[in-house]
Amino acid sequence: MKLAIASGKGGTGKSMVAANLAYTLALTEPVTIVDCDVEEPNLHLFFPATATGKDVTVPVPAIVEFACKHCGKCSEFCQFGALTVLPDRVLFFSELCHSCGGCTLVCPKGAIHEEPKRVGVLELSAPLPGLKLISGTLDAGSPHAVPVIRDAKKQAAGDPEVILDTAPGTSCPVVEALDGCDACILVTESTPFGLHDLQLAVDVAARLGVPAGVVINRSDGKDKATLQFCIDHDLDILLTIPFDREIAAIQSRGDLLCRVRPEWQKDFLAIFLKCRALPGVE
Ligand code: SF4
Ligand code: SF4
Repeated sequence: MKLAIASGKGGTGKSMVAANLAYTLALTEPVTIVDCDVEEPNLHLFFPATATGKDVTVPVPAIVEFACKHCGKCSEFCQFGALTVLPDRVLFFSELCHSCGGCTLVCPKGAIHEEPKRVGVLELSAPLPGLKLISGTLDAGSPHAVPVIRDAKKQAAGDPEVILDTAPGTSCPVVEALDGCDACILVTESTPFGLHDLQLAVDVAARLGVPAGVVINRSDGKDKATLQFCIDHDLDILLTIPFDREIAAIQSRGDLLCRVRPEWQKDFLAIFLKCRALPGVE
């Protein structure tokens, strides 16, 4: 099963849920955890290990100056402003390029070919027996989060149990991570902001056709509005984690709840089993 862990907003404990779930599952079966929060990957903090790196590249245009007739068609086409044609040369601003390939196609002189450009890196490690970690990191300033996530997911293709920690929010990187998943866990907290962002995340999952369940984190016991929302939208509450100083302390030192307090393992295992039984999960 490919199971994504998402949240409409940052700071809900999404990565904590993903890490504890992976740790618990890996005690009994092989698991791959993929850090798709490529702008701020943090799963390696829970699972420190020596990793091997692999560059992620995208194709970007390279102008063959002697073939170029400075007609301007490429810059007219580029909606991102990555090309400027001067009377004697073409300027290319690689940080603006989205690698759509369009300029290569519209150039009437065949004066553009494509070259690979590094936009990020994947780090692969095996921090625990039975656990594989794939961590994607986007290079600073690069707009290419989606290709890094896509490559990270490809590295896990064919693995039997895959947990994907998505970026917070509901933007393109989240859509890319969720796409093709069998189910997703939406992590929320019982505040008005948490509920608002949960609504957005539920909408994205529904549009992608990914069955979802909810984990309420840092619950202060005042979850009435969240519970009602879940009832109204047929969403299972998979687990409620209370607001607790000891849990917060475990997390703040980069440790895992299920490692320090093994009595939580059965609850995280139950999340996984409930996800397998969600309506629409095959
Ligand atoms: S479309 Fe081709 S020929 Fe025209 S300016 Fe661009 S690179 Fe040069
Ligand atoms: S590949 Fe696309 S985004 Fe990049 S310069 Fe060409 S037209 Fe612009």
